Amino acid sequence: MDLTGLQIFKYLPGAKKTADSNCKKCGFPTCMAFALKLAKKQTDLEKCPHIPSELKEKFLESTKIQQHELNITPDLKTGGENVMFRHDKTFVNRTIIAINLDADDINFESKLSSIKNYGIDRVGENFQIDAIWLENPNNDALKKIGNIPVINSPDAQYELVSGNTIEELAENSNNSKAKNKILNFNIEKKSTIQIINELTQIRRQAILKRYEPLTYPVLVKLAPESDLNKICALASMLICKYANIIVLDEFNPALISTLYTLRQNIYTNPQKPLQVESKVYEFNEPDENSVVLMTTNFALTYFAVANELESMPFGSYLIVTPSDGMSVLTAWSADKFNSQIVAKMMSQINLAEKVKRREIIIPGLLSHMKEELEEALPDWKIIVGTIEAFQLYDFIKNKELNSLNSKNH
Ligand code: SF4
Repeated sequence: MDLTGLQIFKYLPGAKKTADSNCKKCGFPTCMAFALKLAKKQTDLEKCPHIPSELKEKFLESTKIQQHELNITPDLKTGGENVMFRHDKTFVNRTIIAINLDADDINFESKLSSIKNYGIDRVGENFQIDAIWLENPNNDALKKIGNIPVINSPDAQYELVSGNTIEELAENSNNSKAKNKILNFNIEKKSTIQIINELTQIRRQAILKRYEPLTYPVLVKLAPESDLNKICALASMLICKYANIIVLDEFNPALISTLYTLRQNIYTNPQKPLQVESKVYEFNEPDENSVVLMTTNFALTYFAVANELESMPFGSYLIVTPSDGMSVLTAWSADKFNSQIVAKMMSQINLAEKVKRREIIIPGLLSHMKEELEEALPDWKIIVGTIEAFQLYDFIKNKELNSLNSKNH
């Protein structure tokens, strides 16, 4: 872990209250100011002539790389992690999920075609197959693979260092002269618990001990397995702890979609919630009679609602409020969804010019806000909608039928 300003300060004359305390020779007015700048790497250790050797050692230790980041291709990075747990800061580069493909397989072309045609949109991102591990590589197969990165490409600018045990992996890494390496850790014949324990030890050695031979991205190749659930369970664990690259033995779109969904959730910055732009979204060419809904700008909430609205056989408007990427109830409890924010948003979007109906459907979780919102928006009727997005179609259909019936009577 990097040293904090306070951890550095306790070694300086300022904390020890010696004669050199706050002498300003480093160019800063106090030892504390120097310590804070040093922690942010905005000054050099050598600027202070009174640094004890203990701090020099600790500082040197703290500046060693925890895990090297390397490029598989210019657009595909791996490694570079610097925390053990996502909530400590964030994970950096998503686990690469590669597919094993044999150039000698008689079904090589059809398998490659399935891999090339795979794509999935989720929470505003499009995912395709990250990479291929090519068995029995030859130029013809590499040419056919085209732009998909090949992890074990003969042209790779890194060396794959293999090992069956942590010790063997470290030794082989140590003996390798390559600047860039990927640690190819063999998990064959090991139990799931052993695999996770060993990968955790490798990551701990890298992140916490900065043990150089293990400070490289780790690749794990899965053995053939007919039980898809077992593969899914193991690969899911490997995404969490602690493979930088997973090679799946076979391509299976359902498995990939599941793993991508998990990976997307883990490899987001917990300090920056996924959010969408706050504005009015239109679905299926709405007109002046279309329904109007409202939710917050948390990406998962937005896409859950948007997917439903897109699939409905009628047009709709969705007002997405500025809520710092918080989900509905979190936004309400953090005062990021209140009547003032909603009223301000409504005054900016001029929705009243587009729709005749003065009704807004709010999330069912915010039913307690109905009166407050109606006070803030006196021209609009607030309708409490559903708790779950998938219930929206039935809710709107029934609401429309009821309103039609009441008009006919
Ligand atoms: Fe403190 Fe060293 Fe700066 Fe003097 S030179 S103020 S002792 S940090």
